Amino acid sequence: MSEDTKALFIIFGATGDLAHRKLYPAIYRLYKKGMLSESFAVIGTARRDWSDEHYQEVVLDSIEDLIDSKEHAESFAKHFRYQSHNVKDSEHYHTLKELADTLDEEYAIEGNRIFYLSMSPSFFGTITHHLREQSLVTENGFNRVIIEKPFGTDFDSSKALNDEINDSFDEDQLYRIDHYLGKEMVQNLLAMRFSNRLIENSWNKDSISNIQITLSEDLGVEERGEYYDKSGALRDMVQNHMLQVVSLLTMKKPASFTTNNVRKEKLAILKALKDPKVTQDDKTEFVRGQYAPSEDGKTKGYRQEEKVDPDTLTETFVAGKLTIDTDEWRDVPVYIRTGKRLSEKTSRVDIVFRSTESDLFSDQPTLLSVLISPDEGIELTLNNKKIGPGMHLEPTQLSNLRSEDTVKDSPEAYEKLILDVLNGDETHFAHWGEVATSWKYVDQIRKEWDNMTESIPFYPALTMGPKEADVLLEQQNHKWIFKG
Ligand code: NAD
Repeated sequence: MSEDTKALFIIFGATGDLAHRKLYPAIYRLYKKGMLSESFAVIGTARRDWSDEHYQEVVLDSIEDLIDSKEHAESFAKHFRYQSHNVKDSEHYHTLKELADTLDEEYAIEGNRIFYLSMSPSFFGTITHHLREQSLVTENGFNRVIIEKPFGTDFDSSKALNDEINDSFDEDQLYRIDHYLGKEMVQNLLAMRFSNRLIENSWNKDSISNIQITLSEDLGVEERGEYYDKSGALRDMVQNHMLQVVSLLTMKKPASFTTNNVRKEKLAILKALKDPKVTQDDKTEFVRGQYAPSEDGKTKGYRQEEKVDPDTLTETFVAGKLTIDTDEWRDVPVYIRTGKRLSEKTSRVDIVFRSTESDLFSDQPTLLSVLISPDEGIELTLNNKKIGPGMHLEPTQLSNLRSEDTVKDSPEAYEKLILDVLNGDETHFAHWGEVATSWKYVDQIRKEWDNMTESIPFYPALTMGPKEADVLLEQQNHKWIFKG
């Protein structure tokens, strides 16, 4: 247990879904592994009137599947206190400060505070203002703020939100969560690219034909219809997760693995994205779609989901062709695809290499697939000589999938990201520059789609999206590698 992991967490939105499903289990995993010193405490706040005992029961319930020792889990839960709190009521911050100071002393935390804003972004400005004004920010330790998505709904709103937060906290105190950046296989992209000469030397326009990123979900919107109908797949997935993965796949080698160097190279990619062409004909570089009932009629369509406008034009699917307008990447399309109610849940990257263009063989393109989740691993498909007479080829696959146990035992994204916050490492968080540039890119697509009010392409639930997404690639003589 190291000295520097002492911290008081104050979680805003402690009765919410995210806190229960992700935050308490993540903090418990760190505790179990000894990565969180005994000098920690958590204050959960939300509007409901809960006792400490009830809150501790809720925390125990959320970690039920992870418990090996009941006694150990109970001693973990004892670090949790609950404070009923309306974030708009300035009086409540006085009470919160008193409790925070008491726990700071009780657990010898020495002023380190992590404020976790796990609630609607519309409250972020109010909360950060009160934290600063009412002296919840300490002088003697670190003060870090973790911010959940969505960080705005377009560039203007995200800038306003950022300005509001910046009135009270500096950029280097802010940790904007993009949980994709905490995923093992996403972090592995840089390790794989820059530690293997074979890969590093082929990672360029001369060797790569195209890059494909698929983040597909088989679920529909579930209970989140109200939020999702205002957001859509473009804002929910492309602006953050997908553009982050694009930047990691194509950024230049950083001078070192420091936050600033990694951010600098990622930002250079996002700034180099060519303005997308969005039209209603086959020339478009972005297509959208919405799920209709499944072909067997058993799965309902998006318009039939709860709290969704029955005439909605919100997209539940996006596919796009991105051009990185640099000499290195201009000729390599980066295709992205994401959606709900697709045929399979997967997050993966497929790197399609060029064929050899020699007269010796009619070879198939070499393919490198990086499976992010739920399967994790790498697959390389090469041409191989078919056993027997002649020089005929057949594809062979070298596969390194992590076992179920390995995946189960590896740290979960929230666990890793919270540990990074404890250690003050911002490498795997979205910097304002990246957020702003991504919104500016995505806003251009949104603007065009908002003007297309007549209809939206539909796809049957549990398929891989509308046919327009296939046409997008066919025009370049490419095809989606992952068929679902
Ligand atoms: P939720 O609606 O389940 O919880 C919201 C919390 O905020 C509750 O604890 C509620 O009591 C509290 N709250 C609301 N108004 C309040 C007020 N005036 N004063 C004090 N507390 C108040 O939401 P959630 O799903 O837990 O999501 C929290 C944040 O995380 C949101 O920004 C969401 O977009 C983001 N997020 C959630 C998920 C997820 O899977 N749930 C995934 C990614 C991001």
